[in-house]
Amino acid sequence: MKSAHRLSLLIYSFIYIALMQNIDIIPDGPKPVQLIHIKASTNHNEKASVESGYIAEPPINMDDHMRLHLDEFRTNVKKLCDAYPDSVFTCLPAAKNEIALTFDDGPDPHITPQILEILEEYNVKATFFVTGENVKKYPGIAKRIVKNGHQLANHSWSHQRPTSIIPYDLLDEANKAQQIIEEEYLSSKFFRPPYGLVTPEQMQLLKKHGYIVIIWSVDSMDWYVTSAIEIQKCVLDKVQAGAIVLMHSAGGHHGRKATIQALPQIITELRKRGYQFVTLDQAFNF
Ligand SMILES: [Zn+2]
Repeated sequence: MKSAHRLSLLIYSFIYIALMQNIDIIPDGPKPVQLIHIKASTNHNEKASVESGYIAEPPINMDDHMRLHLDEFRTNVKKLCDAYPDSVFTCLPAAKNEIALTFDDGPDPHITPQILEILEEYNVKATFFVTGENVKKYPGIAKRIVKNGHQLANHSWSHQRPTSIIPYDLLDEANKAQQIIEEEYLSSKFFRPPYGLVTPEQMQLLKKHGYIVIIWSVDSMDWYVTSAIEIQKCVLDKVQAGAIVLMHSAGGHHGRKATIQALPQIITELRKRGYQFVTLDQAFNF
């Protein structure tokens, strides 16, 4: 594990130096961000290339306001991926038959253990984007996530809306969470900004500090819909090889009942289609 960590440090140092020599032009203004179906590189050794173009639109009814919001979100993610192809990912970097399930906002003492039980029963490894604040509150659950073979990754310290804070505050949020996460898990620096939102200025700063920003290609919409059937539809209708699927393992109004109900069927169906489940560390070869 130690040598893996050293290797990660070396890789990040290399990326950092490379980036310092290649200054980006940052588009103006804070822009939110979201999903994408990325046409990924087929070779791990190639520079990861993210071609954002297609965005998986949730196949459900939603009000006009939400649809417009998500349209704008997709447009901005696309711009961000175009501007930072090596630092922002919405799907896995190789077009294999792999899928990464990701669970945000935990750990919590009620919902996260139920998700962990299902994953254990079905022998699936996943990535948990946790907040530093919750790791501090529930260290036992964070340890259990790691003990069960899952990946802990960074979802900021306190889940503040990135577009409401200045770039250095977001960096602080990321750094503070990274520190507590690394006490439990020798983690690569995968960062998922709260709500998937990150401004170009923030992105520039995160990149300079070695963070890889992970959005998602398939949104289960478990933060929006309340039925397990709709969550299953959002995932199963839109999933593709290399997908990163967004779900939640904390919060929500009904204890994430629908997410918990939907998960076994999602796993079963994806396996039936021949997909394998990987963590981000596995997929990105860290
Ligand atoms: Zn979140």
